[in-house]
Amino acid sequence: MAEAPKNQIPGVYHRKIGDITVTAISDGYLDGDLTVMRNVDLDKAHAILAAAFRPARRTSVNTFLIYSKGRLALVDTGSGDYLQPTAGWVIRNLRAAGVDPSQIDTVLLTHMHPDHSAGLTDMKTGKLFYPNAELVMHENEPKHWFDDAEMAKGGEREKKLYFQAGREQVAPYKSRWKLFSGGEVFPGVTAVPSTGHTPGHTGYLIASGKEQLMIWGDTVHVPEVQAAIPEAGMGFDTDLAAAAASRKRMFDRVATDKVLIAGMHLHFPSFCHLAREGNAYRIYPEAWMHQF
Ligand SMILES: [Zn+2]
Repeated sequence: MAEAPKNQIPGVYHRKIGDITVTAISDGYLDGDLTVMRNVDLDKAHAILAAAFRPARRTSVNTFLIYSKGRLALVDTGSGDYLQPTAGWVIRNLRAAGVDPSQIDTVLLTHMHPDHSAGLTDMKTGKLFYPNAELVMHENEPKHWFDDAEMAKGGEREKKLYFQAGREQVAPYKSRWKLFSGGEVFPGVTAVPSTGHTPGHTGYLIASGKEQLMIWGDTVHVPEVQAAIPEAGMGFDTDLAAAAASRKRMFDRVATDKVLIAGMHLHFPSFCHLAREGNAYRIYPEAWMHQF
């Protein structure tokens, strides 16, 4: 008798960019509603999601390995045990991809929010999940999230989940921080600061030969809605107006140059293109490939 499977296959997907291999590693997903959205008519947002057959709001959380010149980086670390049991799967999926976390020599953060940084350190033991990694991020991230005056302005959830969780996760790496304001941060990887969602929010452009991939971080959280309505933001954007301006700049750049994109909250495995549609945009997932 054939037994039906009980577990999903691992969330791992490889994509070659010239000589560089990028592997999407799923952290899982987070369920929520649309009341966290700002600058958007919620009825309209619901209609867009319903038309796309999407539950409101199921947000993929993705991280990416980068194999370049014999080195191995991980972009973001997922949410550890801080958020929902449907997320926090990065270590399991890394192992399924044949990677031991000790092999990773660099962790690049797009920003310090808990769905990106809370997989750095074991919250129960304080042990580093990536004992051999340098922690590389924009200088404005620790500057903001370690600032007590900024923390005092936040509500309870923000203080606990953004400031305190971020500090707990990032501080154990302090002797190995490498802070940047821009430029090449890993072989073939250039930082593309995209401020607003957080003060040091950064995308990473991967380039090798004629190929490019823009890992655009949290440019979108609800892909269908924000592609159609680029000014629509999130209540947890540090600066809503700056985040919208950065999103529009990023949209314009990748649509004009037809650059392949990947993102932390594009639906797994997240490799897509963005195309103009009237005054807005539409996201087209790339076809799956078993050869890469
Ligand atoms: Zn995020």
